[in-house]
Amino acid sequence: MSEKQPEINYIEELKNICGTVLLNEPMSLHTSFRTGGPAEVFIKAESTENIISAIDIAKKYNKQYIITGNGSNILVKDGGIDGIVINIGNEMSKIKCDGTKIYAQAGAMLSALATAAADEELTGLEFASGIPGTVGGAVFMNAGAYDGEIKDVIEYADVIDSEGNTHRLIKDELELSYRHSVIAEKNMIVVGAMFNLNKGIKKNITDKMADFAKRRRDKQPLNYPSAGSTFKRPEGYFAGKLIEDSGLKGKTVGGAQVSEKHAGFVVNIGNATSSDIIALMDGCIETVYNKFGVKLEPEVRILGKDL
Ligand SMILES: Cc1cc2nc3c(=O)[nH]c(=O)nc-3n(C[C@H](O)[C@H](O)[C@H](O)COP(=O)(O)OP(=O)(O)OC[C@H]3O[C@@H](n4cnc5c(N)ncnc54)[C@H](O)[C@@H]3O)c2cc1C
Repeated sequence: MSEKQPEINYIEELKNICGTVLLNEPMSLHTSFRTGGPAEVFIKAESTENIISAIDIAKKYNKQYIITGNGSNILVKDGGIDGIVINIGNEMSKIKCDGTKIYAQAGAMLSALATAAADEELTGLEFASGIPGTVGGAVFMNAGAYDGEIKDVIEYADVIDSEGNTHRLIKDELELSYRHSVIAEKNMIVVGAMFNLNKGIKKNITDKMADFAKRRRDKQPLNYPSAGSTFKRPEGYFAGKLIEDSGLKGKTVGGAQVSEKHAGFVVNIGNATSSDIIALMDGCIETVYNKFGVKLEPEVRILGKDL
């Protein structure tokens, strides 16, 4: 067995495969909550091979790794993340249309995907236009809004498994349900996905997207950093209503607040720490449980370590 390699080799090896290798990178720059401590190493993936090589290096040096997309559904603790953050974003964001099908790399934004569909007069992805995440994050979460979810439109996803092998998983194999997928369960990585849409009328498609955007602006606190809905929808209830009916609307911990506009959103009203947000979330969970006997579950994924 070879001896444990010095840390420097691990960074150098990553630099050999990736154009962007950032050290001690504040995750507050990469999360929609605008909070979170530093990532030991933050790399921007450029290809599937790149991701597989990064995982090999992580394994060789016994480092943990996590995947991020646009950071719109993660809360990184204030102590940051040990190991490697493999970011799948802009560098892997190609979108290709072919008839009624669209293939998107995992780093493509859902807004770009929805716009590409509209440009091709394809209907089915209007729901996704206002969700501020990537295709990879959306498949992982089975993102959805209004009248649609990823499950309705996806044909297959190309993934890397935890051993570094690639597979094409068809819709049923993805086991998509409310904010759940096999990707999350089996620690897989999405590198691209095929969507199967229907021919539509461009004006109807863009009108629907504009209507959804207006509904978001009217109802959601889009002027403050957040991760969207903080909690999953408990069966038979709405998290926001339970929180509001518990008298928690507007409640603050440090710079974190239960939004005055929509109690389903915890927002960063200025210099919140992730600990503030977590303390406020815990307070909501406890109060709602004591009042209604319903256990709220975070929708936002909490990552990293405490300070
Ligand atoms: C204002 C606002 C409104 C929102 N509205 C909605 C909404 O209407 N509906 C909805 O469903 N969500 C909504 N969200 C939440 C969020 O945008 C979605 O969950 C989105 O799909 C997350 O994508 P992301 O790229 O930002 O993922 P990230 O936040 O970066 O990651 C989320 C999770 O996915 C994993 N992940 C990311 N990329 C990959 C990949 N390529 N392969 C494997 N795992 C991956 C990460 O490890 C993490 O666990 C909203 C968020 C905000 C801030």
